[in-house]
Amino acid sequence: DMVKEEDLDVLSDLGAGNGGTVTKVWNKKRKSIMAKKLILVDAKPAVRKQILRELQIMNDCASPYIVSYYGCFPVDVHVGIVMEYMDLGSLDYICRNTGAIPIDIVGKVAESVLQGLVYLYDVHRIIHRDIKPSNILANSQGQIKICDFGVSGELINSIANTFVGTSTYMSPERIQGAQYTIKSDVWSLGISLVELAQGRFPFADPPDSDSESCDGLDDDERQPAENTFDPDATLPLSSQRPQLSPTTKRHRKRGVSLGGGGMTMSILDLLQHIVNEPAPRLVSRREQFPDSAVLFVDACLYKDPAARKSPQELLESDWIKNSKVTQADLRSWAEGVAEAQKP
Ligand code: ATP
Ligand code: MG
Repeated sequence: DMVKEEDLDVLSDLGAGNGGTVTKVWNKKRKSIMAKKLILVDAKPAVRKQILRELQIMNDCASPYIVSYYGCFPVDVHVGIVMEYMDLGSLDYICRNTGAIPIDIVGKVAESVLQGLVYLYDVHRIIHRDIKPSNILANSQGQIKICDFGVSGELINSIANTFVGTSTYMSPERIQGAQYTIKSDVWSLGISLVELAQGRFPFADPPDSDSESCDGLDDDERQPAENTFDPDATLPLSSQRPQLSPTTKRHRKRGVSLGGGGMTMSILDLLQHIVNEPAPRLVSRREQFPDSAVLFVDACLYKDPAARKSPQELLESDWIKNSKVTQADLRSWAEGVAEAQKP
């Protein structure tokens, strides 16, 4: 039985991204808390209907590594999607609040995301297309799940026509216009893991950096807000409609605004950097990451998608196989995060 809009009372805002806003809601009928995402869909009613039809596939997606889906409906110019509420929020939010995530926990994040990707692909032939810390959610039971995967081709199209999504977690081959494959998701996972383990976006140092890091801080101490590049920034794919969300605010140092759309040169530099320069690696000055973790991330970040490992292969790697982290460890990590999030 699908959740309807009239069953829901809005409790609070959970966040907003490019083209979506998420609120915490109370379901009066089922007497439970849920999350409602509203996506702006600037399309004809027939297209909107098609999207709602395609989203029904999510009904059949049942995995402990996928955020549960409860229903969808049209809301004026939006499509509303109701899903499981994850009380610790997304990993980017957690990272911003509590700093870098312990490497052993990052290993469990990797395993959860891979299990989710394998489930989506093997069972439903779905490629996620938007793996990044804001689409990996956690709850206080210590569960880690992925959300916002590309189930509806029509929805992917209409978002691309409105906002677009060239994100900085995008693989070199995608930046160059190649087809999406599951290997592109693996690249995005690799970048996300480096960010979570190091506590900052791996491309934070600009490619032409000279003495940028002389701010007296170790990498581990620098806050994500110090990033030169905004990992959430997006570029217009469709040149006809360069409607961008305001992404300029954090581009203080080198961001050269091209005017109007809020697009900055530094994003273009970054995309070029991803394509032309060696991939990032897991490195830290203070904490020594285990070799197995470094090798795992390397295997995610081969620039040639043919050389890059598949989710199945990565699940068999030493870092994942030899992890000693139990569900109880995850729960106590989650309790610590919940404690730190209390106002
Ligand atoms: P983008 O639009 O670029 O993909 P995003 O993923 O941050 O960025 P949204 O998907 O709109 O944007 O989500 C906004 C925020 O809402 C997320 O960053 C996350 O913190 C929060 N959020 C999303 N879904 C849930 C959920 N099911 N439970 C709890 N919090 C959620
Ligand atoms: Mg999201």
